[in-house]
Amino acid sequence: MDPDSPLTRVRLALGGRGGRIGGVVLVLLGAGLVATGVWGTEWLTAAGIWSAPRGQGLVGGTLALCVVGLGCVALGAGALFGSHARVRTELEAIGERVAQPRADPAGVARQQPLPFWVCSECRVVEAGLSGCCMRCGKTVAFVQATDEGERRTAVTALG
Ligand SMILES: [Zn+2]
Repeated sequence: MDPDSPLTRVRLALGGRGGRIGGVVLVLLGAGLVATGVWGTEWLTAAGIWSAPRGQGLVGGTLALCVVGLGCVALGAGALFGSHARVRTELEAIGERVAQPRADPAGVARQQPLPFWVCSECRVVEAGLSGCCMRCGKTVAFVQATDEGERRTAVTALG
């Protein structure tokens, strides 16, 4: 699965540490939307707005609210029950692929083809350019190397 897609971000957010809370919030939000939609539809129908100009559009709006609410409930329930464990496994798989600590990061950084980046805090050396450490997300211990001078800086940071 593509770690950069928006869908993956949503699923990882749901499957991460806040997953359980996120799922509960989504279910409650969805239930609220459904309740508002049902109440709105009943109110509009009781008010006889169905026959008024644009009345059907208003009823359509409240019905759409119900549908969006049901979608939220389904998504939240999915995060709480079914997909939680699966998303967690996928999250771990991404973590393994992105950046693993090295036993000898300075040695790896001496050999690594340019460009590459290192994080001395995570002891990570990865090919390409990133902008921040893809493991801890910080820039404090992060060094990017695009030439031999920067390679020396990176190796020093890791040593
Ligand atoms: Zn890091």
